[in-house]
Amino acid sequence: MMKQLVVLSGKGGTGKTSVAAALAVLASRERKIVLADADVDAANLAILLDPIEEERVDFVSPETAAIDPERCVACGLCAEACRFDAIPVEDSVYRVDPLGCEGCRACLWVCPEDAIRMEREPAGFRLRSRTPYGLLHHAHLFPGAENSGKLVSEVRREARRSALDGGADFILIDGPPGIGCPVIAASTGVDLALLVAEPTVSAIHDLARVRGAAEHFDVPCAIVVNKWDLNPGKTAEIERFAARDGLEIWGRIPYDREVPRTLVMRRPITECPAEGVRKAIAEIWEAARRAMDDAGDPFPTRG
Ligand code: SF4
Ligand code: SF4
Repeated sequence: MMKQLVVLSGKGGTGKTSVAAALAVLASRERKIVLADADVDAANLAILLDPIEEERVDFVSPETAAIDPERCVACGLCAEACRFDAIPVEDSVYRVDPLGCEGCRACLWVCPEDAIRMEREPAGFRLRSRTPYGLLHHAHLFPGAENSGKLVSEVRREARRSALDGGADFILIDGPPGIGCPVIAASTGVDLALLVAEPTVSAIHDLARVRGAAEHFDVPCAIVVNKWDLNPGKTAEIERFAARDGLEIWGRIPYDREVPRTLVMRRPITECPAEGVRKAIAEIWEAARRAMDDAGDPFPTRG
């Protein structure tokens, strides 16, 4: 049975994508995997995985209304018809607020001048790329574009399709940071969530938020502490939080200057010269594999 693991963090910049890329490398040595980068606002997983683009599909925004000022006679019927107050008027000029428009088309039907059209704007694109570790589904949402949750869902849908078509037994998802709608889209229905934290002042707060979001969707969680030795006191706090909440710590990755050097060379940290870092990530993969094997049906080996 196919398993899905999502890597999350309460905030950006904790090393989430570095951990996800390293797990992808290690998992692919034993399993047939498919990868999904669900961080569509800042998709970085591909940078570390040497991808070759195979397919690119446009992603468009949902329909919103637009008023043609040349045809509009300022009768105001559209504003009266809009239940979402998405047609403000200023100096007798009616216009649609695209952020408020729900695309219901009520304004379109009442306009006596046929001055309203429904429009879709390019909002980003979705990609399928081949990597040495498995197919990668990822996407880019244009700055300011809405509906990242829907784009995340599309990325996951395509990843699942690839996994089913290709007989892959494991989907590894690099989730978005935070706890918003895209995180929910990235986490629903997965078998496990790996929460990556750094030992900072806000670590417990960030972990508690993302853990709460995962728990809401009945997704079991485990924790990885990145750069744990930069603040052993905070790491101990994270460990106490984990113990209190019944969460396993799957690993502690030490700080090492070789890590940023490795990442700058666009290589996963499995290739980091620092042995301690490589050992930590290998232990995290071992824990992940054990947990996935324990989560219901056996997790089949590659072959
Ligand atoms: S209903 Fe049509 S003509 Fe009237 S204000 Fe709206 S867009 Fe203009
Ligand atoms: S499409 Fe619906 S929500 Fe959008 S402006 Fe028209 S009436 Fe309002």
